[in-house]
Amino acid sequence: MDFQHIFASRASRMKASEIRELLKLLEQPGIISFAGGIPDPAIFPAAAFKEAYQDALSAEKQSTALQYSVSEGYLPLRKWLAQQMAKLGVDCGPENILITSGSQQALDYLGKLFLSPNDTALINWPTYLGALGAFNAYEPRYDRLQVNGNRSAADYAAEAEAAGGRVKFAYLSADFSNPTGETVDQRGRENLLALAEDLDCAVIEDAAYQSLRYDGEAIAPILALEMARKGDINACRTVYCGSFSKTLSPGLRVGWVCAAAPVISQMVLLKQAGDLHSSTVNQMAIHHVAESQFDSHVAKLHSAYSARRDAMLAALHEFMPEGVSWTRPEGGMFVWITLPVGLNGADLLQRALETVKVAFVPGRAFFADGSGENTIRLSFSCADEATIREGVQRLASVVSAEIAAQ
Ligand code: PMP
Repeated sequence: MDFQHIFASRASRMKASEIRELLKLLEQPGIISFAGGIPDPAIFPAAAFKEAYQDALSAEKQSTALQYSVSEGYLPLRKWLAQQMAKLGVDCGPENILITSGSQQALDYLGKLFLSPNDTALINWPTYLGALGAFNAYEPRYDRLQVNGNRSAADYAAEAEAAGGRVKFAYLSADFSNPTGETVDQRGRENLLALAEDLDCAVIEDAAYQSLRYDGEAIAPILALEMARKGDINACRTVYCGSFSKTLSPGLRVGWVCAAAPVISQMVLLKQAGDLHSSTVNQMAIHHVAESQFDSHVAKLHSAYSARRDAMLAALHEFMPEGVSWTRPEGGMFVWITLPVGLNGADLLQRALETVKVAFVPGRAFFADGSGENTIRLSFSCADEATIREGVQRLASVVSAEIAAQ
């Protein structure tokens, strides 16, 4: 049966992710993959998780671990997170924390909470593909967020109104963003807060990579900057989305939202309607591991990933031809490459897979307007330094051939 005519109009904006389709190709032997933005499984704190599950399933705790629980999330974990947020400059209590099934669920719920059809979401060009996927279902219009640009709030508001709605939020990943690896400096964060005040909209701060800073000075989260001005989290318009996926494990699907109580209580209702609560046993396991070794484990990630980032930047410098430029991230998992105009990232991927067995993600999917044809995203998180050098050398040979054929 053809169901298209009975699907809701929102279904027409749901597309298969180019990345997911591509991941299928990566099962071929001998591929060097810079494609998936995933943690290196060799560094998972597996022994600590084994111990954590044993503890959660002990006679004393199993009736909690295996039972339904509250939608807000496991209280000891929320208390631990409130302490972590305080260290980042966000003074809050567990009532300001909601546990979600990964930060992806938070993005979906925030889309559901804020966006009516034709409302405007301000996003970066490019932005996290999964955020587009989450928000698309709520049929928004996108406009380009430029924190250091000269468009006024009145301009943004007028265009949003002409499109039949209003600006509801600005979404961004301020630290080592997916896909560019770039960080918004403190001035940019302050500008964004001023813009959000003028537009009277929310700010969604996606902090998925925030703990992965390898060098340079840490910049306070947007929520912390707003707290410093307002002194009370319940007066803040920033909604902070955190995740354990890039630090401890993505498989357990544990993330959190830290925000003003009215946002949290509304999201609790969404959570009740959506999945009741995130897995209790997984929240207990995350709490057990985070409490005993979050900082030491993150330090391990820093040393492994920074060496890989350095290897990638060195190889790009050594092998990439004239006319190719790239970002120099201070953390995270990604380097973003801009190829000469006229080259196409998707064609390059096909050629690179066929001829030199190197995979990456073409950049176009990260642009809400379908631009960015000559960009690609490379992830350095999962290959060792020698493999990274080899992969970049092979990729550069294909780029050089494409340029020569132009
Ligand atoms: N935000 C960003 C920027 C991401 O890159 C990802 C994962 N790739 C997520 C959110 C979602 O991660 P999770 O649901 O595993 O927390």
